[in-house]
Amino acid sequence: MFESLQEKLSRAFKTLSGKGRITESNIKEAVKQIKLSLLEADVNYKVVKEFIKSVQEKALGEEVLKSFTPDQQFIKIVRDELIKVLGEKKVGLNLSGSPAKIMLVGLQGSGKTTTSAKLALMLKKEGKHPLLVAADVYRPAAVDQLIQLGKQIEVPVYTGDRKDPLKIVQEALDEAVKNVHDVIIFDTAGRLHVDEKMMEEVRRIAEIVKPDEILMVIDAMTGQDAVNSAKKFNDELELTGFVVTKIDGDARGGVILSVRHVTGKPVKFVGISEKMDGLEYFYPDRIAGRILG
Ligand code: GDP
Repeated sequence: MFESLQEKLSRAFKTLSGKGRITESNIKEAVKQIKLSLLEADVNYKVVKEFIKSVQEKALGEEVLKSFTPDQQFIKIVRDELIKVLGEKKVGLNLSGSPAKIMLVGLQGSGKTTTSAKLALMLKKEGKHPLLVAADVYRPAAVDQLIQLGKQIEVPVYTGDRKDPLKIVQEALDEAVKNVHDVIIFDTAGRLHVDEKMMEEVRRIAEIVKPDEILMVIDAMTGQDAVNSAKKFNDELELTGFVVTKIDGDARGGVILSVRHVTGKPVKFVGISEKMDGLEYFYPDRIAGRILG
C-alpha cells in the first residue's frame, strides 16, 4: 500500500527543489501533481479538494523558516495536513464497561471474524480475559472459523444455539459475568451489501448488548465502496470507529485517507496480515510517514 502514491508525491516535490521561496506559481505544478496522485490513490474527491486548499493556504501564508529550504518546508506542510486528515493521534479503545463490550460490524468478507480473533489476542496480551461471541449465524463457516481461531489463540468462544443471534448475545452476556471475562467481543452478521434486514439485526443486538465500542471493519482493497458503506453504517449505528483491513495488499490508500473525513469517526486499528498477530493500533503520523517515504 502507498508505494505508488509515495513515488508520485516525491516526484511532485522535486519540481520545487532549488526554489528560493514558496510562491503561488512555483508550487502550482507540485500542487497539481499532489492532487492527481491523491485522486489516483482513490481518495474521496471532497477530501482531496479540502486537502489541497489547506496545503495551498498554509504554504502561501507561512514565512519560510531559516532552518528549512522552501521544498522541505512545503513537504512539512503536506505531512502535517496528511496527519490532520488521518486524525492526528492514535485513538484507543473505550474499555470502561464491566465487562467491556465490543461489537464488530461490517460487510461479508471485510475481515470481521478474523479481526474479532485478532483483537481478542491483542487484548489478551494486554492482560485482559476476553470472550468471543459468534453471532454471525448466516455465513455457516463463520462460527466454525471463530471456534478454530479461538482454539489457536486460546480464547473461549460462545456459540449458543448457532441460530438466534439475539438469544446468543443475551446468553453470552450472562456467560461472561459467570466466568469473569472482562471484555466481550461480538462478531455480528455481515452481508454482501448494506441492507435493511442486516441493519435491523445489528441495531437490535446493540440494544441488548449496549456496547462500549461499535467498530466497523472495512476492507482497504474495496476502495471508495468501503467508504460509501462506512457512511451508511455510520448513519444507522453509533459507530465508535473503524478497523481498516488488508492494508498489506496492493490497495491504493484511498480508504485510509478518506474514511475519517467522510464519517467523522476515527480509524482505531489496521489489519496488516492474515495472521493472528496482524492487527495494529492506527498511528496517523506513522502512516503519513509511510505515504511520504
Ligand atoms: P468476514 O466475512 O468479514 O468475517 O471476513 P473474514 O474474517 O472471513 O476474512 C475474509 C478474508 O480476509 C480471510 O481470508 C482473511 O484471512 C482475510 N483477511 C482479514 N484481514 C486481513 C488482513 O488484514 N490482511 C490480509 N492479507 N488478509 C486479511
